[in-house]
Amino acid sequence: MKKHNFNAGPSILPRIAVENSAKAVLDLNGTGLSLLEISHRSKDFQAILDETMALFKELLAIPAGYQVIFLGGGASLQFCMVPYNFLNKKAAYLETGVWAKKAIKEAKFFGEVNVVASSCDKNFTYVPKNFTIPSDVDYFHITTNNTIYGSEIRYDMDSPVPLIADMSSDILSHPVDVSKYSLIYGGAQKNLGPAGVTFVIIKEDMLNKVVRNIPTMLSYATHLKEPSLFNTPPVFAIYTCMETLRWIKSIGGIKEMEKINIKKANLLYNTIDSSKMFVGTVDKESRSNMNICFVMKEQYKDKEEAFMEFAKSKGMIGIKGHRSVGGFRASLYNAMPIESVQALVDAMNEFEKNNVL
Ligand SMILES: *Cc1c(COP(=O)(O)O)cnc(C)c1O
Repeated sequence: MKKHNFNAGPSILPRIAVENSAKAVLDLNGTGLSLLEISHRSKDFQAILDETMALFKELLAIPAGYQVIFLGGGASLQFCMVPYNFLNKKAAYLETGVWAKKAIKEAKFFGEVNVVASSCDKNFTYVPKNFTIPSDVDYFHITTNNTIYGSEIRYDMDSPVPLIADMSSDILSHPVDVSKYSLIYGGAQKNLGPAGVTFVIIKEDMLNKVVRNIPTMLSYATHLKEPSLFNTPPVFAIYTCMETLRWIKSIGGIKEMEKINIKKANLLYNTIDSSKMFVGTVDKESRSNMNICFVMKEQYKDKEEAFMEFAKSKGMIGIKGHRSVGGFRASLYNAMPIESVQALVDAMNEFEKNNVL
């Protein structure tokens, strides 16, 4: 049976990226060596790294004055590296979910944190509006896509201070004006590649911002000097990222990607909104195009388990909602084909027809 992979992360990747990565593990470009067996300082790997960085810059239209680097440690290590490198006295954060909260917790080790707005009061079902970004802070940090609760910030803010964004789960899903940001980071394992590599887009003028001494590995300056090659980078993960980026380019770039993503999200949201049984959990204007959260209406709550089993029998994988939300979450990352979304919608409609009172 065909499987429809709605996992939240690690998650679906373009089939071609998985296949080509498997081939490179067996034999890299006819060299007779595995991608896993070559030096990270070899010409072969340098070419992979160069192409990955170049495609990243090209697809996101990253302006001059920025660098793209690939690090270990996940987005979670960035929660610490960001304040370590940039927080002198005070930083501002927008609290829109679990990941934002974790970023805030780490920043508090380094200084004062001003949480300018939070949607905690309504279990993170909306993105706060009408807040003011203070001008007396070292930077302002946002989480553009709230992977767990399914809300998303899909516009580029004007900020009087350096804007820093965790884009782990919506990078490359729609165009972004990178010039509005001083740093963008994320774990690769949602929309880009396998777990194990973290992308960082950093504006070069962000270096030397703090007075404290920073351990070598935790300093962005270290990793910019010899981009991504201070120590051994996650070579396999970077290779798959390159293949994913090639795939995005081949289908027409990020604008095209966005069109497809909107089509997929609308298909599922329209089904939820016209359903007698299912209901979305997030305010309409804050809804994510990547992670779509929904539950069953009160009178059908006892049917959730049965729908999960039914969906499983139709090949749906990974649609169980995060334990903090319950119900269902369908992650529609870039690589998710619309046919799979249609299959989920068909399953929802069929289940509803058979079970609605
Ligand atoms: C998954 C995720 C993280 C955590 O990423 P790790 O690479 O596991 O540290 C952080 N932020 C967001 C928005 C995420 O979706």
